[in-house]
Amino acid sequence: MSERGLLIVFSGPSGVGKGTVRQEIFSTPDHKFEYSVSMTTRPQRPGEVDGVDYFFRTREEFEELIRNGQILEYAEYVGNYYGTPLSYVNETLDKGIDVFLEIEVQGALQVKSKVPDGVFIFLTPPDLEQLEERLVGRGTDSKEVIAQRIKRASEEIALMREYDYAVVNDQVPLAAERVKRIIETEHFRVERVIGRYDNMIKNTKPLV
Ligand code: 5GP
Repeated sequence: MSERGLLIVFSGPSGVGKGTVRQEIFSTPDHKFEYSVSMTTRPQRPGEVDGVDYFFRTREEFEELIRNGQILEYAEYVGNYYGTPLSYVNETLDKGIDVFLEIEVQGALQVKSKVPDGVFIFLTPPDLEQLEERLVGRGTDSKEVIAQRIKRASEEIALMREYDYAVVNDQVPLAAERVKRIIETEHFRVERVIGRYDNMIKNTKPLV
């Protein structure tokens, strides 16, 4: 039986560039993990594709999935639900393939309580002013939504301490490279590999 894959949780405040860094990571052939497409009730933005960027669902449909226990984690973010479909994650991990979640902080904390051996990576902005500029510059949200997102972003940065790694997004290719290296290194942790050597360890006479 193959070993279970790693659950990688990648988050950070809205506007920090998580989506861009994630796309950079997945655009290179040297990653060995799969992206879990989230579900959301927020309206589809121009250029977004259902089933690729998100599974776009109504509130009723989303609430039904929550009730049926089909969501690993979810959060209400600026008036909309966002969540991770449970079955895709479990099936992929069972195949021994790592799964990469790009989610906000509340959801990440839920995953941490359910899957404590996941790898929790936090993408940080170089500073808050730059974050604000990016949110305004994106031009996809109203003034009120931007203000809400900035408030939420500072609250989220305070939760960085719950994560294993903090990666600064000063340059997208660099940040993507750092994330990939972290994931690669995580596979070498003794507690993740020692199970393979159990028989050898049991049959070995003590040295001392
Ligand atoms: P956006 O509306 O900009 O696409 O996403 C808003 C926020 O929701 C981002 O911080 C994004 O990472 C987060 N998000 C996307 N998918 C999920 C999910 O499945 N669960 C949670 N908790 N947050 C998500």
